[in-house]
Amino acid sequence: MPRSPTDYVNSVKDGRVVYYRGGKRVDDITTHPVISIAVRHASDLFGVKERLYEDPNYGLVSKYFRIPRNTNDLLDRYKLIYEDTLRFDGLFNIVQAIGSDALFSLMIIAKKVDKRYGTNYYSRVMKYYEHVVRNDLAMAVAQTDVKGNRAKRPPHEQEDKDMYLRVVEVRDDGIVVNGAKIHTTQGPVANEIIVLPYRALVENDKDYAVAFAVPANTKGLKFIVRPVLEYDGNPNAVNAASRFEVEALIVFDHVFVPWDRVFMFREWDLAGQLAWTFATYHRFTAISYRAATANLYLGASLYAARANGIENAPHVRDWLVQMIMYKEVLSMGAMAAP
Ligand SMILES: Cc1cc2nc3c(=O)[nH]c(=O)nc-3n(C[C@H](O)[C@H](O)[C@H](O)COP(=O)(O)OP(=O)(O)OC[C@H]3O[C@@H](n4cnc5c(N)ncnc54)[C@H](O)[C@@H]3O)c2cc1C
Repeated sequence: MPRSPTDYVNSVKDGRVVYYRGGKRVDDITTHPVISIAVRHASDLFGVKERLYEDPNYGLVSKYFRIPRNTNDLLDRYKLIYEDTLRFDGLFNIVQAIGSDALFSLMIIAKKVDKRYGTNYYSRVMKYYEHVVRNDLAMAVAQTDVKGNRAKRPPHEQEDKDMYLRVVEVRDDGIVVNGAKIHTTQGPVANEIIVLPYRALVENDKDYAVAFAVPANTKGLKFIVRPVLEYDGNPNAVNAASRFEVEALIVFDHVFVPWDRVFMFREWDLAGQLAWTFATYHRFTAISYRAATANLYLGASLYAARANGIENAPHVRDWLVQMIMYKEVLSMGAMAAP
């Protein structure tokens, strides 16, 4: 069932643990002066009628969840992301794009893992996907680990074992994980956090080969939001004050994940493929929205040139033409990729 902007805003008032600046707990992200801007931006997606289509299995649902099966489906996805980005003043709206990128990659890799190990991840992924589609959820993807000493590659070589997210306990009903993920865009305002491994692993890294999804208000989850300096560090900032997305460090402190939400568990030899397949889908998403964002810069530059009376100066025109070429190269990349 498609949700309205209000449905979405009400859904994130769920007791999640969020901090902003100086260890201060945020009681309500929907009224916080900085985070509420990211909430409002996410909510705008739920007001877009063009986002919806009639799916034969699920009825009226978000196009972001339509599984791309051929070239035309991918071109439609490009147009969807491009047009939504223009709709939102050139700012991408990530909350259904990135989660679907993760789900599409999980569908592919879960099948491979099942074939190699006789597991049943694919049916778990599809059950979770159905939950997301039917409830029109907003998602964030937490892939980037904090990593510690970069000179050491395999996670198990780190002195502090929690530098990469890992399994610390296995129970009959699920697993318990510890660690932290950084730079998670819109994590603090999402309904669901999908966690993926960050890199290729070796056999001793088994406990780090883990993928799963948890609701944002799960016990043990803490969001530490990167301060938006453009907004609250500089009251004169004009660039980002009306729309932005927030990033967060997400701490997983003994977080329990039930088995039906675990999509990879110790299959270390396929963790790298999962990381890479997600990144490939997400690069396609990124080139689609960046083509639209390039329009924003182009338009702003043209207005700046006009305001200064130099729009016809040959060197200014050269720069504007270069910006057009850059934008068109991005669009061509997105159109050629499928
Ligand atoms: C605005 C923004 C939004 C993001 N959103 C998300 C998101 O939603 N979800 C998510 O999972 N991630 C997200 N990311 C993470 C992003 O995609 C990158 O993966 C991440 O920024 C790279 O990790 P890092 O910052 O720890 O840098 P590092 O990987 O540590 O790199 C820092 C520097 O160190 C160098 N370096 C690293 N290791 C070595 C080495 N062994 N030897 C030599 N040099 C080395 C690198 O080349 C680089 O110059 C986001 C990042 C940004 C900036």
